[in-house]
Amino acid sequence: MQIAREMTTWYDRENPTFTGRLSYMFCSDYDTLVQTLQKHGFTVHTAASAEEARAIALTLVGTHSVGLGGSMTLAGLGMYEALCANGNVVFSHSVTPPAEDPYIFTKENSADWYLASSNAITLDGKLVNIDGTGNRVAGMFAGPKQVALIIGKNKLAEDVSAGYQRIKQVVAPKNAKRLNRKTPCAVDGTCHDCNAADRICRVTTVIDYKPGWVKELHLILTDAELGY
Ligand code: SF4
Repeated sequence: MQIAREMTTWYDRENPTFTGRLSYMFCSDYDTLVQTLQKHGFTVHTAASAEEARAIALTLVGTHSVGLGGSMTLAGLGMYEALCANGNVVFSHSVTPPAEDPYIFTKENSADWYLASSNAITLDGKLVNIDGTGNRVAGMFAGPKQVALIIGKNKLAEDVSAGYQRIKQVVAPKNAKRLNRKTPCAVDGTCHDCNAADRICRVTTVIDYKPGWVKELHLILTDAELGY
């Protein structure tokens, strides 16, 4: 099934085989990465730009309800606004925080679809994430039956160890600073494996293969830097 868009001639949702025009994208050996991810049970989509990634996500979710994981990628794409404009029922704790709705995480993780990003994706086909609350990672494998993660090329890491280091040295310090957490990384941008009450690194997950609970786990790999 092809997604109707400008580049349909290059791209097929079930068979993302590419012409030479896309061979440079995302990483130096994109075809091998796609094949590895497909072997791990993931459904791979290719976007040449942020706009295209958003369009693919909107096409995938159709008219269904959507829960949004916390994500600077989704925020940068204006995903909440795009879904609302599309008429979807959308649950987002970034818009309705738990202080306003104590069941917001439950609603997000009970929707028809779950949209988020991944902190890292590895060349050997794994998704690495670290959460503070745990709702976001739970939404990837124990929430909605349909999951789509929009992933920019800046999230690429060689393996799980490199992905973990990427999160600890780049992602978590930036998030701690953004969220005004009282952690050492928020001050100097470096992980100290702290014991702070405000520590945001509390749940670490590696998704090796599509989780059994999830019907389809879509990866929208985007040839652009998205989030951090
Ligand atoms: S363990 Fe602590 S210092 Fe390290 S990244 Fe997480 S919150 Fe920051």
